Amino acid sequence: MNHKVLKIFGVPVIFSDREGVCEEIFSKALSGEKFRIVTLNALMMNCAFEDRRFLEILKNAVCVNDSIGISLAALLLKGKWIPRFQGIELFENILKFCEKNGFSVFFYGASDNSNRGSVRKLAAKFPGLKIAGRLNGYAPNPVEKIAAAKPDFLFVALDLPNQEKWISENFGHLDCICMGIGGTLDVVSGKIKRVNFVFRRMGLEWFFRFLKEPYRFRRIANLPVFLFRVLKRIFLKSFCFGRILL
Ligand code: UDP
Repeated sequence: MNHKVLKIFGVPVIFSDREGVCEEIFSKALSGEKFRIVTLNALMMNCAFEDRRFLEILKNAVCVNDSIGISLAALLLKGKWIPRFQGIELFENILKFCEKNGFSVFFYGASDNSNRGSVRKLAAKFPGLKIAGRLNGYAPNPVEKIAAAKPDFLFVALDLPNQEKWISENFGHLDCICMGIGGTLDVVSGKIKRVNFVFRRMGLEWFFRFLKEPYRFRRIANLPVFLFRVLKRIFLKSFCFGRILL
């Protein structure tokens, strides 16, 4: 079944709850389609504002809302609430699906320690999962190595927004479904502590990260910058509409 999408600044975001998002992704995978999954957040939206090519990358992907900022933007701009689906949770749901349906997976990205440690833990958690391979995010010639392993799903754990650019540039050479997972392997391996449940439920990971890593302020500032852009759009729209009525 095809789920509806809601366009936020031209970026189509799946407009559904978690079950609907999974259903959409799984049915595409089962039909043999190759596509890119983006777990969308305010940082990516800000990149799309500044770089039209990045906007095109987002427009051509299956975008899932991974940020309270996107939920608020949808509410303020379209009067609709898109629930969040945290990237790490979507990732685990996809692994469960791959295990059940015999799809092979490849994990690319993060330091070698983190990559190895996380893959070991995932193999224990999903014992039936077909692991086509793994590669740290600093290894040479990754595309050739991944293509040779012929996975059905590729998970890319690089930094933002380079990760989405990397996937978009190499998607044509990789005959598989690709998903950017950022720092997920660092969390799975235990290198980075997962954001506290209360902060997660409230959509306040950014605040938790700010408390733990205040030096990342510029990254964390993406949420207020994006919300400012949303409010500016609303103001401009109502101002222009008001002038037309006058
Ligand atoms: N990373 C990588 N290769 C690179 C740059 C980053 O594998 O060339 C990995 C890094 O080791 C980490 C993940 O990408 O596991 C996310 O990096 P970071 O935390 O810097 O990015 P952010 O979460 O801020 O986007």
